Amino acid sequence: MAEFLLLPDRVFDGEASHDGWGVRVRADRIDAVGPREGLAPTRDTLRLPGTTLLPGLIEGHSHVLLHPYDETPWDRQVLYEPLAERVARATVHARASLLAGVTTMRDLGTEGAGYADVGVKAAIEKGVIPGPRLIVSTRAIVATGSYNPRGAPEWSLPLGAEEADGVDDLIRVVRDQIGRGADWIKVYADYRWGPDRTAAPTFTLDELRMVVEVAASSGRPVVAHASTAEGMRRAVLAGVRTIEHGDAGTPEVFAMMAERGVALCPTLAAGDAILRYGGWDGGAPEPARITAKRRSFALALAAGVDICFGGDVGVFAHGDNVREAELMVAYGMTPLQVVRTATSGNARIFGLDDRGRVAEGLLADLIAVEGDPTAEIGALRAVRFVMKGGAIYRR
Ligand SMILES: [Zn+2]
Repeated sequence: MAEFLLLPDRVFDGEASHDGWGVRVRADRIDAVGPREGLAPTRDTLRLPGTTLLPGLIEGHSHVLLHPYDETPWDRQVLYEPLAERVARATVHARASLLAGVTTMRDLGTEGAGYADVGVKAAIEKGVIPGPRLIVSTRAIVATGSYNPRGAPEWSLPLGAEEADGVDDLIRVVRDQIGRGADWIKVYADYRWGPDRTAAPTFTLDELRMVVEVAASSGRPVVAHASTAEGMRRAVLAGVRTIEHGDAGTPEVFAMMAERGVALCPTLAAGDAILRYGGWDGGAPEPARITAKRRSFALALAAGVDICFGGDVGVFAHGDNVREAELMVAYGMTPLQVVRTATSGNARIFGLDDRGRVAEGLLADLIAVEGDPTAEIGALRAVRFVMKGGAIYRR
């Protein structure tokens, strides 16, 4: 049985940093954690000088079957890339994510690649390819007419998600996706199908409630894409666990989210990336969409909304997950808050009590980064060591 004694400069346990601590790992679990002098030696001692050891990062919003839109636009990936190519890419993406310190990843829709996320997850679990522990949602659910790709009106193009309408149809589709391997159900509470293709609500409150009820009866949570205040309001009332994007959230909606314990996955990095693909260099003048996003994120923080770490990675390069963490700091959180969110915070929001902290008995999903990310968030980029389930993937 593998046994390691890991000796970094400090351990961030998911809540706070402890100088001079070490961690003992036995098989796939954390066996002991505390001051070095109190830890009995083991066969293998790994000294990690200059580093902070912390729980593996939990990415909250990924698309392992997508790659950056400046390489290939989303529509062309969905319509023209063979499934085998998309899966081949996903194996590369999974490896890049793990080596970047992401040991768990909630993947929110295959975007036209069917149930390939279920297979990629199985290949990782069986040790065929390296990658994070995946939480998958298969095809995701959209209201008829609301989603893309969209051609001339005479054509019905293959879509990036599964259409369903009305309570009966939604019950069937939720159960079908669960049967095919969905861990979470993802629903689009709004999309860009309003006048002038502006974002507008899709499902009625009753439809969303039924999705949540059917998913919950199998023990599964629901995640809602929502960027309009009304789409977010309906999703909150329906009982979803997290809301993705939340761009036009109002103080009222964020207060409801805080009161009912619905977390926000702001996906700051996706919006930032898309504007950069459009030619913005990151400097002044700041695009109106970025200014609005900063404002709504500040409103969410002020309302005390639980924030999830999830960047919509896939829109930008897999393995560059830290981009979201850096923007969370740039938009108003402290590095300590962000590192908590990316570890113990996401574990709590996603109901994963076996990870996200460095504590005895939890999964040995551990990374070491150079420097101290609770002081300087960019330290998360300097990954020196990655362990998942007691196996070392990077050192
Ligand atoms: Zn997404």
